[in-house]
Amino acid sequence: MQIAIVGTGYVGLVSGAGFAELGHDVTCVDLDAARIQGLCRGEVPFYEPQLAALVQKNLRAGRLQFTTSAADAVGGAQIACIAVGTPARTDGTADLTAVHATARAIGRALTGFTVVVTKSTVPVGTAEALAPLVAAHTTHPFALASNPEFLKEGDAVHDFLEPARVLVGADDPRAIAALRELYRGVMLTGDRMQVMSLRSAELAKYAANAMLATRISFMNEMARLCDAVGADIDAVRAGLGADPRIGSQGLFAGPGFGGSCLPKDLRALHALGESTGVELGVVAATLRANEAQKRLLGERIAAHFGGALAGKRIGLWGLAFKPETDDIRDAPALALIAQLRAAGAVITAYDPAAMPSARALLGDAVALAPDAYAAAEGADALVLVTEWRELRRPDYARLRATMRTPALFDGRNVWSPDDARAAGCSYAGVGRGGQAAHTG
Ligand code: NAD
Repeated sequence: MQIAIVGTGYVGLVSGAGFAELGHDVTCVDLDAARIQGLCRGEVPFYEPQLAALVQKNLRAGRLQFTTSAADAVGGAQIACIAVGTPARTDGTADLTAVHATARAIGRALTGFTVVVTKSTVPVGTAEALAPLVAAHTTHPFALASNPEFLKEGDAVHDFLEPARVLVGADDPRAIAALRELYRGVMLTGDRMQVMSLRSAELAKYAANAMLATRISFMNEMARLCDAVGADIDAVRAGLGADPRIGSQGLFAGPGFGGSCLPKDLRALHALGESTGVELGVVAATLRANEAQKRLLGERIAAHFGGALAGKRIGLWGLAFKPETDDIRDAPALALIAQLRAAGAVITAYDPAAMPSARALLGDAVALAPDAYAAAEGADALVLVTEWRELRRPDYARLRATMRTPALFDGRNVWSPDDARAAGCSYAGVGRGGQAAHTG
């Protein structure tokens, strides 16, 4: 099939390369000319495991093309996917400016019957509202479908090629048939396509993110309670997760959730509840708990120094909102950095992939170290915010020898408290049984 994808961010580029890998002829379009020029040379503009190889392979095979011209991409395509950003406005609602502009551009570019698919995460009713925008610019027939994307940054290629499910919101049989054909290559081990109404598909995406975020906020609250009562969140998690009605996936306490999706999607869902008069108390509580959680590590570090952080040197490991990505949008590390800097601390950070994005966003607000141990050198405390594999088993003796005071704050509960203390460091996790760092 001939496929057009508008937007070459995480969703658009992974989908474009993924559909090409499944044997389709894909043209990806983006407004960002520099990004498109790079992509034509096989250069992926962000870090996502396996993606560069997938893009390069399909470029070479001639199944994947890049352009800044929506007309070139959409003309002749059977399916045109909208994969542009839907950032939060200040009131929490989703900003649909790019989605609407894309719908108009697709309308102008149609040359025959085309299925127009929203892959961006959009509020309920958005796909229906696109119909007049497309129709205003074309006389050609088209059908609308919603196909929300569930890929996880850091494992996006795998998620795309082996999806847990493919959601299709559509009522036009031609749209359903086209999407079935589009995804045929990932259905070999079973039909994972769920067909529902446009509105159900749009809501299912937000509901999934709200449930994932709620589990995280719930575990973060339990972790606070663990610290207050001397219990261990890892043990509580094991006991909780063994219940098949609960399951153990995504039940980790940490520095609060972040990234480009969960915070903005929960805010958009909450706004949808407000606009429809439906009180979404769980969603509101999840967001509130997350704001508190994002301050926890900073509060613990401040408490460790008796509230006197001015001039203290803090080493920070991990800037990306999760491992295996360079995405720092709404990353917990950014909130922590702002909190520590406001208290007068001086920060040196290290991240295996996200330092260029951090440099672009933060300028000189934080020093960036060439490697993890350089970030810890001479520091009064070291805090782990993102559990990259290379940061999970530090050399505690080396930290003890090179830090000014070896106070370790493990925001992801991946370090060994026993090993850290045996090496003479103090250790504090999140919900590992004590509010203050204990010196071993
Ligand atoms: P992104 O910000 O990484 O990329 C968006 C791209 O769209 C940019 O390259 C931008 O230049 C381009 N663009 C914007 N307006 C355009 C226009 N009018 N014409 C052509 N190109 C245009 O976004 P993303 O992270 O890929 O997210 C896209 C959508 O998918 C959002 O709605 C998001 O919520 C959703 N989503 C994201 C993820 C994720 O993990 N990032 C997962 C599932 C769903």
